[in-house]
Amino acid sequence: MKFSGKNVLITGASRGIGASIAENLASMGLKVWINYRNDPAPADELKAKIESSGGVAALIKFDASDESGWAEAIKLITESDGELSYLVNNAGITNDKLALRMSESDFTSVIDANLKSAFLGCKEALKVMSKKRFGAVVNIASIVGEMGNAGQVNYAASKGGMIAMSKSFAKEGASRSVRYNCVTPGFIETAMTEKLSDEVKDYYAKNIPLGRMGKASEIADAVAFLLSDHASYITGETLKVNGGLLM
Ligand code: NAP
Repeated sequence: MKFSGKNVLITGASRGIGASIAENLASMGLKVWINYRNDPAPADELKAKIESSGGVAALIKFDASDESGWAEAIKLITESDGELSYLVNNAGITNDKLALRMSESDFTSVIDANLKSAFLGCKEALKVMSKKRFGAVVNIASIVGEMGNAGQVNYAASKGGMIAMSKSFAKEGASRSVRYNCVTPGFIETAMTEKLSDEVKDYYAKNIPLGRMGKASEIADAVAFLLSDHASYITGETLKVNGGLLM
């Protein structure tokens, strides 16, 4: 994969899909900034793993739903590297409940963690990437943002919002050669889906045309493509990586 940029920030990167994205992009020669918000141990482990394979990684602690955290993070990265070439808004949570049992705070906590965090990241990226007339952002949305899901009114709203927001940022960023795209994973084997019941997992496995849940590395490959020079004419797009569950 060919990249004209040199570094990338990935939010929520110490485990799951984010960690896989970080490893993959580091193996392709980018310096990866691994964001985490609480426990430094898994982030440290990931950094050591990347470095032992010859990659370059740095840790950056902030809560992605906090505006001042973003401002400080971008300042640190640009002071260190002179630029931010790529951003992956990956941080996300679920807080599932049927709508009639969902409180206002159940709703807003997920909107803040998923949608507001991506808004802040997209905006900070536009500021610094515009100056270089170069950059690309990938937002990790979800199949649930495209088709809805019972028990996930909050999550579906946050991810559907990310898709629409990315297209709007794509329109604003295009004149400065800053691209924005989304990846919408289906059901991927991570801690987030580990908590689903075996019954639900069986249901999806049977209904996914490719007959299995996806791997984090399969999302990481889609992200790498969209950030790379090979996607230089792609912006405002939503790339489904879901084994055919939604076509
Ligand atoms: P995961 O294993 O639960 O990892 C989520 C990561 O996001 C964790 O490292 C978490 O940090 C971090 N995070 C959450 N809120 C944050 C915040 N405010 N600031 C910084 N970091 C924050 O989940 P995953 O499955 O890898 O999911 C990654 C992304 O893919 C999410 O956006 C998710 O919605 C999306 N996705 C996943 C699937 C799937 O099937 N797994 C499907 C569709 C979309 P902590 O360790 O501090 O909690």
